[in-house]
Amino acid sequence: PAGPAPRRVTVLGATGSIGASTLDILRHAAGDGGPVPQVVALTGNGNIAGLAAAAREFRAELAVTADPARYAELKDALAGSGVEAAAGPDAIVEAAARPADWCMAAIVGAAGLAPTLAAAAQGGTVALANKECLVSAGDLFLAEIARAGATLLPVDSEHNAIFQVLDPAQRPALDRIILTASGGPFRDWSADRMSRATLREAVAHPNWDMGARISVDSASMFNKALEMIEARHLFGLAPSQVEVLVHPQSVVHSMVGYADGSVLAQLGAPDMRHAIGYAWNWPERRALPVERLDFAALSRLDFLAPDETRFPALRLAREAMEAGGLAGCALNAAKEAALEAFMEARIGFLDMARVVEATLARLAPFAPARDLGAVFAMDEAARAEAEAVIARDHARLGNGGVLA
Ligand code: NAD
Ligand code: MG
Repeated sequence: PAGPAPRRVTVLGATGSIGASTLDILRHAAGDGGPVPQVVALTGNGNIAGLAAAAREFRAELAVTADPARYAELKDALAGSGVEAAAGPDAIVEAAARPADWCMAAIVGAAGLAPTLAAAAQGGTVALANKECLVSAGDLFLAEIARAGATLLPVDSEHNAIFQVLDPAQRPALDRIILTASGGPFRDWSADRMSRATLREAVAHPNWDMGARISVDSASMFNKALEMIEARHLFGLAPSQVEVLVHPQSVVHSMVGYADGSVLAQLGAPDMRHAIGYAWNWPERRALPVERLDFAALSRLDFLAPDETRFPALRLAREAMEAGGLAGCALNAAKEAALEAFMEARIGFLDMARVVEATLARLAPFAPARDLGAVFAMDEAARAEAEAVIARDHARLGNGGVLA
């Protein structure tokens, strides 16, 4: 008997953590009675062997690396496979623009902006993992989704949870959303100890297995800060309606509170294949290769208020939401520059928030995000300003790369 029609699929950021989980879901989907994935394009960056292997396995039409210098290597790795090779940022955007029914947007950072917009423009379903897209250019991105008649499905686990429990018919009675946060590896550390934290300590996330950069963001709670701004755009909220709650077990993925006092939560094992699989099967649900919750074994779920003194990222996010316009873009870009500086041991762990705060103060007030050009200009200005802040304070303190 004829099954459902094959679904044309593109995975942007196929070699990353979300990309790997997405390929896992696609592998599983091939035999589950739902649509059969037919891969159009897979994209990656430095991991050429991994990209080529995935492209061969899924018989992709096209594989693209963001790095133009690796083109020959990718072409060699794909020799005889029938998979087309391409390289460079423009080729990634072109891959995203190839007609597909379902596109996973999982490139990390602001590099995902243009490709994700291109995926939205063709009007299919965009499964969105790249939160920076909404943080930096939320208004523009949502306008493009609406213009193209595309479907946007949030994959970030918190936003996916809210999407699952938020009944559009009850949207007018929505009171608040509660984003849960694991608290990261430094949840119980003193500020003094945090100031000396190493990269190795910062990437040791207790619950989730993620890329290095998002793991550091999780330790500083800048990940949650981005998610506050992301939620604000996705669900059309006032800044005061976005709450954060530390929940060390990461089992409650987030909650929605209504005017009548009811709170609805979505729960599941901390495994991104949950949210990715939900976005793949939506609006239906099908079995997924994820662990079932055993409540008796869990026995308890803990919740506590976040500490904004040790985690100023949350306050900075609220201020950026209040400021609006390009403030989200500036926060994300300054954060990326500070994150890079921390990963290169040029600044200490707690300096990341200081650099972001100083950068935002110097760039305020923020204009609306009129077009992508304005977003890229602010992104560049904020990175440059953050580097200037790092150079200035580093030179002043001269204490071997770790600021006071
Ligand atoms: P990752 O670092 O593991 O993978 C990033 C992917 O982007 C890779 O495929 C890499 O090749 C590609 N990439 C990197 N630089 C690029 C560039 N300049 N141009 C084009 N492609 C480039 O990251 P990840 O953890 O998979 O996260 C991906 C996105 O999903 C991020 O925006 C992250 O915030 C979001 N997210 C991740 C998780 C998670 O659990 N990992 C959860 C929620 C949201
Ligand atoms: Mg998340």
